[in-house]
Amino acid sequence: ADSANLLANVKSEVEEWARTQMKEIERLKELERYRKEFVGNVSHELKTPIFNIQGYILTLLEGGIEDDKINMLYLKRTEKSIDRMISIVEDLESITKLESGELTLKMVSFDIVKTVKEVLEMEQWQADEWHISLEIINKPSKPIYVKADRNRILEVLTNLVVNAIKYGKKGGFVHVSFHDLDENIMVEITDNGIGIEKKNLPRVFERFYRVDKSRSREQGGTGLGLSIVKHIIEAHNQSINLRSVVDQGTTFNFTLEKAK
Ligand code: ADP
Repeated sequence: ADSANLLANVKSEVEEWARTQMKEIERLKELERYRKEFVGNVSHELKTPIFNIQGYILTLLEGGIEDDKINMLYLKRTEKSIDRMISIVEDLESITKLESGELTLKMVSFDIVKTVKEVLEMEQWQADEWHISLEIINKPSKPIYVKADRNRILEVLTNLVVNAIKYGKKGGFVHVSFHDLDENIMVEITDNGIGIEKKNLPRVFERFYRVDKSRSREQGGTGLGLSIVKHIIEAHNQSINLRSVVDQGTTFNFTLEKAK
C-alpha cells in the first residue's frame, strides 16, 4: 500500500510539473507572438512616414521646388512625417526605460490647466482633420497646481487626447474636465467615439495590445501608448481608470497630487 501511495504521489508531482512546464511554454510562445507582431507593427509604422517623405522629396526634385505653393506644402508634409517618426522612436525609448525601471521622475509644481491647454493646442490640427471639437468643459477660473513630472504628464495627456481623437467620431467631441478630490485632482478625457468592448477593457493597458487590429492599424500606432501612460501614472503612485460603451464613447481618468 505504501509503494502504491508513493507511486501516486510521484505521479501527481510529475503531472503538476508537466502542467507548469506547459504553462511556461505557452507564456513564452505568447511572448514570441507579441514580439513578432511588435517588430511588424514598428516597421510598418516607420515605413509609412519614410515612404511619404520619399514621395514628397521626389515631387520637389521633379520640379515642385520651383512652385512656392507646392514646395511649402510638401515641406510641411515632410515635417509632419518626421514628427511621426520621432514620436514612434520616443515611444520605443520610453517603453524600454520604463521596463528596465530606469524612470526617474522630476517632480515639480505646475498648473495642470495650462498644461492641458498646451496639449489641446498642439493636437488641434488632428482634431480639425476629423472635425472633432476639442475643449475643456468645466474651465477652472484659477490655475490648479499639481506636483508631478511635467514632461511625463505631457506625454500622458498627449497619448490620451490623441487616442480620443483617433478613435473618436467624425464631427464628434473630445472633452477634458477637472475634478477636485481633496488631496488629488482628477483629469478626465471623454470622447464619443467607437468605444471598447467590455471584454477588452482590462487589456488596453497591455503592451502592444490593440483592440481591433485592422481598424487600429488604419489609425496608426504601436499599441504602446496606454502601457506607457499606465506606467507613468503608477510611478507617481496615482491611478488611471476607464469606462467605455461600444459606439458611444470612452472616458479615461487619472489622478494627480495637488501641490501644497
Ligand atoms: P495605439 O498605438 O494602438 O493607439 P494604445 O496603447 O494607445 O495604442 O491603445 C491601445 C488600444 O486601445 C488601441 O489600439 C485602441 O484599440 C484602444 N483605444 C485606446 N484609446 C481608445 C479610445 N479613446 N477609444 C476607443 N479605443 C481606444
